[in-house]
Amino acid sequence: MCKLNAIASPPIQPLIKPCKIRYPTPMAINFYSLGAAEEVTGSKHVIEVDGASYLIDCGAFQGSRAETDRKNRDFGIASDRIDAAVLTHGHHDHCGLLPLLVKKGYHRNIYATPATRDIANLIMMDSANIQAHDAIYLRKQAKKRGEKFTWEPLFTEKDVIQATSQMVSVSYNRPMPIGDRVELEFYDAGHILGSAMAYITVKKDGKKTRILCSGDLGRKGKPIIRDPDKVPAPDYIVLESTYGDRRHDSTTDAMHKLGEIARRCVKNKGRIIIPAFAIERTQELVYYFHLLVDEGIIPEIPIYVDSPMATNATTIFQVHPECYDEDVHEAFIRHHKNPFGFNSLHFTTSVEESKALNKHPGPLIIISADGMCEAGRIQHHLANSIQDPNTTILTVGYMAQNTLGRRIRNKETDLKIHGEWFKRRAAVEEINAFSAHADYFEATEWLDSLDTSNLKKLLLVHGEPKAQAYFKKYLIEKGYTNTEIVQYGKSYEFE
Ligand SMILES: [Zn+2]
Repeated sequence: MCKLNAIASPPIQPLIKPCKIRYPTPMAINFYSLGAAEEVTGSKHVIEVDGASYLIDCGAFQGSRAETDRKNRDFGIASDRIDAAVLTHGHHDHCGLLPLLVKKGYHRNIYATPATRDIANLIMMDSANIQAHDAIYLRKQAKKRGEKFTWEPLFTEKDVIQATSQMVSVSYNRPMPIGDRVELEFYDAGHILGSAMAYITVKKDGKKTRILCSGDLGRKGKPIIRDPDKVPAPDYIVLESTYGDRRHDSTTDAMHKLGEIARRCVKNKGRIIIPAFAIERTQELVYYFHLLVDEGIIPEIPIYVDSPMATNATTIFQVHPECYDEDVHEAFIRHHKNPFGFNSLHFTTSVEESKALNKHPGPLIIISADGMCEAGRIQHHLANSIQDPNTTILTVGYMAQNTLGRRIRNKETDLKIHGEWFKRRAAVEEINAFSAHADYFEATEWLDSLDTSNLKKLLLVHGEPKAQAYFKKYLIEKGYTNTEIVQYGKSYEFE
C-alpha cells in the first residue's frame, strides 16, 4: 500500500470498544438485581462476567413521589463499572433511567432493537418534559409556602439526546458481540413493539453459558405484534412475574365486555375514560374498537386518543413493519389498510383540543396517558368526569401500588387529583385481558415450549411478593425445582 493511501484511509473505528479484561481466570458469572426485585417497575439487572458488568435495562421506579425520587436518584452502581448496557424494550420502567446513567458518566453502548430505540427515545423525552414541568410547579408551590426549594429533575432533554446517541440498534436474531467472550442476541418477547428477550451467551474454552433475560414477557395472539419467540436451550433464565398469581380473561370475553361498556355509554350519552399506556395499549385499543365497529357490534362512537405521545407512538408503529404479526402485515403492507386509523378516531395533540373535550357531548371515548394515572392529561379528564355517574373509567393495565390508577381500580370513592379531593361517582370497570404480560399459566406454557434440559436455575424478578410466591410454588410443582425469587442486591452465582 502506498503511503498516500495509508494516510487517506483512516483506521475503521470498531463499533464495540473492547472491554478491559479484569479477571481472566477462572471464569465467574454472577447475577444481581438493583431494581424490580420483589417489586414491579425499576428493572435493573446486572450480569457479571469475569468482573465485567453488563446492565440489562435501566428502568425508573414508579410509586409515591418521595420513594420514587429516592430510589431513582441513586440506583446503586457506578456508571464507570458498566461495560455495556442492554435495553429489552421501551417502557419507562425499563429505559427510564438511561439518561441519568449517561449523565453520571456512562459513555459506552446501549444495545436495543430499532423499534425499541425509537420508543425509548419518546418515553425518555416525555419523562424529561414531565420533570421540567414538575420542577416549575413545585418551585412555585414552595415559594407560596415560603419554603426553600431544592429539588432538581433527574435529567434533562440534553441527557436523553445523549442516551439515544449511545444506542446501537440490533435487530432480532442478529447475534452481536458486546464484550470479551460475551454475545447478545435479541429474540421477540411479544410484549410491545420492538420488545426483546436478551439472550446472553458467554463463551469460554469451547464451553457456552446461555443466560436468558426475559425482559417483560408477552403473550400469544396479541394484535399487531408477534408471539413470544422460542429460544435455544438456556442454562439460566431470569423471568418476569408481574402476573405470577393471576390468569387473564380471554380476549373473546374481553371484547364482549368492551362492546357492552361501549353500548351502555351510547345509551347514557356518557363517556368512557381509559387510562392507557401511550405505547402498545393505546394502539391495541384503537385496533379493538376498529374491529367492534367493523363487525357492527358497536355504533361509531367518537374516540379521542388524547395523548401527544400516543400519537407519536402510533407513527413509530407505522414505520416498523418488521415487528408486525402476519395479520397486520397483510392488512397494512398488502392492502394499504391502516389499523391505527378509521373514521370515528381522532388524535388530539394541542392543549386547546384536549380542553375542548371537557365540553364534548356524549357518547364519547377518551383514551389518554399516563397508564397509571400518575401524570399527564388523563388526570385532567378524571378531574373533569370522575363525579359524573354517566362516566365509566375503564382500567386495562397494571396499576402499581400507591398510584392513583391502583386506587381507582380498587374502587376507592375519595380520590385526590391535582391536590384536590374528588368524590367518585363514575363507574369503574376492569379488563385485564389486554395485558401485555403473560399470566402465570401462559408464562409456564411458554417455558414448557423451550428445551429446558440444561436449565440450572430459574430466577424470578419483576413481581410483587405475593405474586412471586404463588408463581414460584406453581413452577416448582410443574418441575422447575430450581426456581428462586431474586432479592435486591443479592448475588447469584451462575457457574
Ligand atoms: Zn414492559
